[in-house]
Amino acid sequence: MAFEELVARLNDGGYKNWLKAGRCLVILKEGLYPFTDRHMRDFHGYLLDHNPQLRNTCRASCQLRTNKLCSGCSQWKREILKQHRQPHTAINWDNCSPAYWRTDHWELAKAYMPRGQAQAEGTDQCDAAALLNLINHCNCFNFVDPKVVREVIRSRNELMHSSECHMGDEWMKHFQTSLKLFVHQIGQNSQMEKVVQQVDEMLKLDLSISIDFMDGLEADAISQSNASSDLVGQWEAELLQEMLQEFLNTPAEDEDADAPDTEHLRKLAGFLEANKDLSERFSAELRVINSLKAKELKDEGESGASVCV
Ligand SMILES: [Zn+2]
Repeated sequence: MAFEELVARLNDGGYKNWLKAGRCLVILKEGLYPFTDRHMRDFHGYLLDHNPQLRNTCRASCQLRTNKLCSGCSQWKREILKQHRQPHTAINWDNCSPAYWRTDHWELAKAYMPRGQAQAEGTDQCDAAALLNLINHCNCFNFVDPKVVREVIRSRNELMHSSECHMGDEWMKHFQTSLKLFVHQIGQNSQMEKVVQQVDEMLKLDLSISIDFMDGLEADAISQSNASSDLVGQWEAELLQEMLQEFLNTPAEDEDADAPDTEHLRKLAGFLEANKDLSERFSAELRVINSLKAKELKDEGESGASVCV
């Protein structure tokens, strides 16, 4: 039964687009690991070489929440603001531990990422959105046109906000074009060539799966693609997990434009519940969504009662 549901999903063109685009972003993210790490390491060294005050050791275990920084950390904070490509964009200082700015290039990188990166100790602990925002925000990557990287970020956000996990063919063409333009700007190197090759292979994959029925008995499934059904099932589970994590870990009061709304969560829960295999796999997340829905209804009831009074 569960397999039949996977088969039905994979015979839907929009769903296949959603899944393939999600996999392309995973390929891109893995290609960006060494690229971002190398560039940030060099950039950190460059800043230290050009501003001796950044070499001062933090002697106060500074915390940004208290807003009391030693002279070395204050210098770093000024430098981070100076090196921001969009000076009017708010910096998520909660990502940072100032005492490590002097010694750890990734602690510097996290200042240019979306919130929620405080625990990330290196590139491989960051998702595609974090790395793309770093490239968009930090002067280290001023050779990449911000419009080009923002277009990839926009596509990524649309993908993650597709509560029905369905992307049209026109969207897919635009996504492919913007992804390739971005990779081209990153530069010619073996890692990015590999990304282009793997993205092309992914986009060419036919993920359709068929099931033969013989004498009323379900025969072995025949995959028409090069990817096994187990692997495709794993890909979709990973992508759905990333979506759910992103939505459930963002506080409702978040003023960020990407903050999930309850309507979106409701639709996503509806999609999972309509697929028995997915509703079983993500039963814990569905319980959380349902408790959020119940809380919202309760809040609405209480607010309505107070209006009546
Ligand atoms: Zn300090």
